[in-house]
Amino acid sequence: MKIGIINEKTDNRVAIVPDLVKRLIDEGNEIFAEEGCGESALYSDETYLSAGAKMLDRADVLKSSDLICSIFPLEKEDYKLLPNEAVVISSFQPYFSLDKTESAANKNFTVFSLDMIPRITLAQAMDVLSSMASIAGYKAVITAANHLPKYFPMLTTAAGSIPPAKVLVMGAGVAGLQAVATAKRLGAVVQAFDTRAAAKEEVESLGAKFVEVEGAADDKSAGGYAVEQTEEYKQKQREKIFEEAVKADVIVTTAQLRGKPAPVLITKEMVDQMKEGSVIVDIASSTGGNCELTEDGKTVVKSGVTIIGNSELAADVPNHASQLFSKNIHNFAKTFLKEGKAEIDMENEILKSSCIVSNGEVVYGN
Ligand code: NAD
Repeated sequence: MKIGIINEKTDNRVAIVPDLVKRLIDEGNEIFAEEGCGESALYSDETYLSAGAKMLDRADVLKSSDLICSIFPLEKEDYKLLPNEAVVISSFQPYFSLDKTESAANKNFTVFSLDMIPRITLAQAMDVLSSMASIAGYKAVITAANHLPKYFPMLTTAAGSIPPAKVLVMGAGVAGLQAVATAKRLGAVVQAFDTRAAAKEEVESLGAKFVEVEGAADDKSAGGYAVEQTEEYKQKQREKIFEEAVKADVIVTTAQLRGKPAPVLITKEMVDQMKEGSVIVDIASSTGGNCELTEDGKTVVKSGVTIIGNSELAADVPNHASQLFSKNIHNFAKTFLKEGKAEIDMENEILKSSCIVSNGEVVYGN
């Protein structure tokens, strides 16, 4: 296969790092990389060249590649350059933006969306959502610490004592648990909420307190995802969150519902009652946000509370994020790349679930 790597226009990460270039070549493939593609993640053109990639300009990479991998979907114009029957891999989020999927439905392309990979044990090593969420959880706490006009750990000095910061994490999945662990390491007092019963043990094993709201809807058949809650539960949850939010110095929110807008957990009224100088980092901002006042991609100050809406915090750790992304891509590609050829078996559960365009036709949702 001729595999292409492009320079992401709006992101510091790169989908394939030089280490993977070397491996893919050993496995019988050719690699074409756009000049400068890894620069902002600290992978120079020289490292790509010495790994065996051919460096070209963007148009030539696209024209030469029958498999193209990117962090974000390509632009409409890019698809015109790809050869017929190309295989395209990226994260399309088809639940939220079908237009990007439709742009890729061309020239007998086969398109895989990494965010559609099922949450089964076999697919864990390919799960970009998890590896990026884990980095985002870490970076959310670091970002909050940078904005907080207070210290995180408890301090006893000759000049007096400083109490530890109080951190509240909402949604204790992959991102949330990493946020809990990072805040604990920085010395904060940490509490976390989740609707999934399984999260309690995980939160407690990290030394944090699990804030329990009884009566959550059963999520056992939702494939690892949370389900929408009843109005009665949501009301109980809001009351409990209110109690904890007004005491918190930092709130990190990560709650998501597959294919639906993120649940609103922090209302405007709660923000109004929070302590001045507190910080909210909303990782769910791209799907609407968990805080009513979040603005995606922006940092705003409301009633003295700094609210950071950022679902792409992994892009702020581009070197390691690209390394993990690459590893995920490799594990995914291995399901159909055999001795330098694509042998796509649509009976394979992982390929079937993540394929959103087949032979140029949108198949997602059919
Ligand atoms: P996610 O990003 O979909 O959601 C983040 C968290 O928000 C989840 O823990 C969810 O329960 C929680 N949440 C949703 N609504 C909420 C609400 N109203 N209030 C409070 N919390 C709410 O989930 P995720 O972090 O990607 O993963 C969740 C679980 O799935 C984890 O246990 C993870 O280990 C598992 N998982 C398994 C695989 C796999 O086996 N391949 C892959 C990814 C995740």
